[in-house]
Amino acid sequence: MQRRIPEVRHRDRKALRDGYSRGVRRFEVASIFVYCCAMAWLASRLVPLADDYPWLMASAFMSGFVLADFVSGVIHWVADTWGSPDVPIIGQALIRPFREHHVDQKEITRHDFIETNGNNCFISIVPAVCGALVPLDGARNAFIATAVFSVTLWVLFTNQFHKWAHLDDPPRWVDVLQRLNLVLPRDHHAIHHSAPYAKYYCITVGWLNEPLHRLRFFQTVEWIITAVTGLVPREDDIGAAAARAVQEETPPPLAPERARPETELGV
Ligand SMILES: [Zn+2]
Ligand SMILES: [Zn+2]
Repeated sequence: MQRRIPEVRHRDRKALRDGYSRGVRRFEVASIFVYCCAMAWLASRLVPLADDYPWLMASAFMSGFVLADFVSGVIHWVADTWGSPDVPIIGQALIRPFREHHVDQKEITRHDFIETNGNNCFISIVPAVCGALVPLDGARNAFIATAVFSVTLWVLFTNQFHKWAHLDDPPRWVDVLQRLNLVLPRDHHAIHHSAPYAKYYCITVGWLNEPLHRLRFFQTVEWIITAVTGLVPREDDIGAAAARAVQEETPPPLAPERARPETELGV
């Protein structure tokens, strides 16, 4: 049975696109530059340890891949659910692209390297610098620093994987990776793009979407935040009436709904 959300109201598509200003562009370029410097610093500290801890570092690198999926979900959920593009700097640079993505999900396929990756580079700078500052004096810290390197690396690739998930005709090798679920698959991500956009936030590879959905992880955090602050989740994204209707709904079924074409969504 199709779930109908009343009065879903998005922000104006053109106004959101016009929010991509020269200042935001400069912010993204600077973020990519600082991110590359921080990652080069971190990598230069890790490379000499590879002979001492090859398997430990390999397992840390794989753990970082899964953790990046979780981080991508948390960042996506925060930017979809709270705040507004009207917030100075952060709103224009970090929240606006997520609001625009719900209004026009194909816009991401027209983004160049800087617009695709600038935001994620900014978010990764502090963790990368912290990873580079970890004293590498034993196996435990080698694991931590490698995991931090891996998470920040895969977070960088996340928007690229997300962009591929919106391509109508991706390159053959990308299609193979998507079918193997080694990057975010297209049909899997389509589940998120059903109003009210309240599930399947992980966009690196999507492995954690089903467990987090079954645990009602984000829903539970939203209940806590609303109880403490009174804020209504996704009010800015889909309008006050729809946001309140979603908030008052009974919990979603444990099994995920199948993705439906946009024409069936009634929004
Ligand atoms: Zn979203
Ligand atoms: Zn998307």
